Amino acid sequence: MLTAIVGTNWGDEGKGRMVDLLSERYEIVVRYQGGNNAGHTVVNELGKFVMNLLPSGILRPDTANVLGPGVVIDLEHLYGEVQRLRASGVAIEPGHLLISDRATVCLPYHKLLDALEEDRLGDKKFGSTRRGISPVYADKYMKKTLRMGDLLHWDSLRGKLEDLVAWKNLTVEKGYGHAPVETDALMDWLERFGRPFLPYICDTGACLSEAVRAGKSILFEAQLGALRDIDYGIYPYTSASTTLAAYAPIGAGVPFAKLDESIGIMKAYSSCVGEGPFVCEFFGEEAEALREAGGEYGAATGRPRRVGGFDVVASRYGALMQGCSYLALTKLDVLSYLESIPVCVAYELHGELIDRFPSSIDELSAARPVYEYLPGFACDISACRSAEELPAAALDYIRYIEKAVGCPVKYVSVGAERDAFITMF
Ligand code: GDP
Ligand code: MG
Repeated sequence: MLTAIVGTNWGDEGKGRMVDLLSERYEIVVRYQGGNNAGHTVVNELGKFVMNLLPSGILRPDTANVLGPGVVIDLEHLYGEVQRLRASGVAIEPGHLLISDRATVCLPYHKLLDALEEDRLGDKKFGSTRRGISPVYADKYMKKTLRMGDLLHWDSLRGKLEDLVAWKNLTVEKGYGHAPVETDALMDWLERFGRPFLPYICDTGACLSEAVRAGKSILFEAQLGALRDIDYGIYPYTSASTTLAAYAPIGAGVPFAKLDESIGIMKAYSSCVGEGPFVCEFFGEEAEALREAGGEYGAATGRPRRVGGFDVVASRYGALMQGCSYLALTKLDVLSYLESIPVCVAYELHGELIDRFPSSIDELSAARPVYEYLPGFACDISACRSAEELPAAALDYIRYIEKAVGCPVKYVSVGAERDAFITMF
């Protein structure tokens, strides 16, 4: 079974939570895009963890976890994340964690450039996590960066870095007027944070190809959501990578493989971190109440997330882009404080009602939400473990979403803990 777990919206839908739950049935979990700008929260009997780079299957000792070729790796961050998990008693050894020799290294100057550019933009900033993700993907496509496999050829590393540094200083020093970046400092950084990972670096594509041929089950874990996809999202307020299920086999290292399923993780309401148009957005007290109820503060950054009601237009588009076989609807329990549930059913654009998700940033920015209200269930559902136990209004809400989005809901999550979920069919 080859399954992708993907976000249908702006990210933070609860992918980490669902990967932790469903990974029990899989032998391998692969992260296939993005970097440490992810914040995937897992709450289980071992405690509460936030994974940035490591696949959310890392907490299961018998699951192999892979960082695929499509991922960008800040080695200092990975080092810290591994240390943190080890301190909580999670063993991380080669074999349990495999790092693709084709994955891209995110260097300290990528972070520097991210910050320099956000600062230069001032009011017009993108709301980047400042973790160097856009600069490092840009360099990847410029073919001017290191890959993890370069660390396996340590003797030629300095020469490669010197060429990169000479080029990079055209921007850092001559462009932004910042102090130049230096090869020696980068070599020290690689020595400290890169060398410990040498035993983990391998041709993960070959391992995964073997696994696919042997019929093993693989879970592909996405970061962010469809609306942050570089091509199909709210460009330029997107991430720099392809967040879609269709990219999973490519970014994971098995481009020839065909997915058996794509599970769309969809939240029972909307949230969005950072800048950019967010049509269904709530403001004032309404926003405050939902943010508090849902604990909507960034897992990676701690930033308060922007929130809104369930957005039919965006979610239908997201589910389509992700080619969802079915959905996992998360955080339904959060809506228990509402007497009636606000749903954004359409957008109003220049006086006209539309139900398509605009590709143009100008249209998205001009669009206004059209809200309707569904009956709330107004009671605690966090202890429900079957559809029969759910109040009728909660079931109606699930059925409404299935119809509006055009995709069945297989799982409903009613709490952050591993076992707080309902299987619908
Ligand atoms: P991800 O980036 O998609 O993995 O999602 P995040 O971890 O950034 O955000 C989801 C947040 O909601 C985390 O704090 C989870 O612990 C929490 N969570 C996930 N599912 C549920 C749920 O069904 N109910 C509640 N109350 N919290 C949930
Ligand atoms: Mg997150």
